[in-house]
Amino acid sequence: MAPIEEIYPFLSKPRKVVIIMHQKPDADAMGSSLGLYHFLRLLGHDATVISPTNWAEWLKWMPGCAAVIDFEYSTERALAALDQAEWVFCLDFNTLARTRNMAARLRKVKATTVLIDHHQQPEAAYFDYGASDTTKSSTSEMVYDLIVDSGHAGMIDMDIAACLYAGVMSDTGSFRFPGATAAVHRMVAALKDTGINHTQIHEELFDNFLENRLRFTGFVLQNRMEIFYEHNAALIAIPWKDLVRYEIKTGDTEGLVNYPLSIQGIRMAALIIDRDEEVKCSFRSKGNFDVNTFARKYFEGGGHVNAAGGRSSETLEMTVQRFVNALKENSSQLQ
Ligand code: 5GP
Ligand code: MN
Repeated sequence: MAPIEEIYPFLSKPRKVVIIMHQKPDADAMGSSLGLYHFLRLLGHDATVISPTNWAEWLKWMPGCAAVIDFEYSTERALAALDQAEWVFCLDFNTLARTRNMAARLRKVKATTVLIDHHQQPEAAYFDYGASDTTKSSTSEMVYDLIVDSGHAGMIDMDIAACLYAGVMSDTGSFRFPGATAAVHRMVAALKDTGINHTQIHEELFDNFLENRLRFTGFVLQNRMEIFYEHNAALIAIPWKDLVRYEIKTGDTEGLVNYPLSIQGIRMAALIIDRDEEVKCSFRSKGNFDVNTFARKYFEGGGHVNAAGGRSSETLEMTVQRFVNALKENSSQLQ
């Protein structure tokens, strides 16, 4: 994978571009992809954004979101765009497996591939060019860097700024995680100077849910959360029937995994959800307990030191047991 700076001289030549994010995109995946999309279109490129799956309702306010192709829903259109693409940008994921059903097609792509991502251990061999930097707060910050470093800071308009702001705000936990560096705050100042309404963006992302989601949150905190004080850890395990009962949709469980970390002394939290097609796991930690390694070792996953995900093809009960055993093995590192 050659450094991304090597593509800067070619940014001025319009091409057919496809931008891809990870499945079930969060605000950083969608925000960074759409920020790059608006920027490349301003440069004259013919850009198309594809998500491997559908996405949460609370992302739909983002400028350009209505034009994003859902690969599962509009497979023909997505494949046609990929067939024609000269450049394929892959944003906010480190391994092609994160694109679910798109992965097999992506492996055969003839276009030049470019990675922009901040997760650990990227599948670098696949990409022709790329920026992979785990010290970055978000992929949105990296798209901002690309725009500025390639000499186009003056092109950042409100559409680009709103998308990138949403991404960096979301991935830094509203600027509280260690990744919210001085550089991030300088970037936010520059984005704010375009005239974006950050209060409104915050409300779009965090105050934009249906009643059922809040009732569901109350229910699972009351009934599905278990605290393991001896390991300074907590688990929320959600059976499929709860998702059905509360009509839970894509994105409705986002953020749930963070709640147990607000309990004194808890250093690691896990969320295990029976999603029917697979059991999905999320892990969060405070301090130096490395959930990326934990997710890789026990749950076929990965991510960052303090935020990672994974999966299991076992039952919910077996996955919970696997987690409890893993906690015991890692107890000394959690003290
Ligand atoms: P989440 O818990 O929000 O799904 O994911 C937390 C972080 O870990 C995100 O940065 C996400 O991209 C990453 N992640 C989630 N699931 C997986 C996975 O199965 N494999 C890898 N490599 N990363 C994941
Ligand atoms: Mn991200």
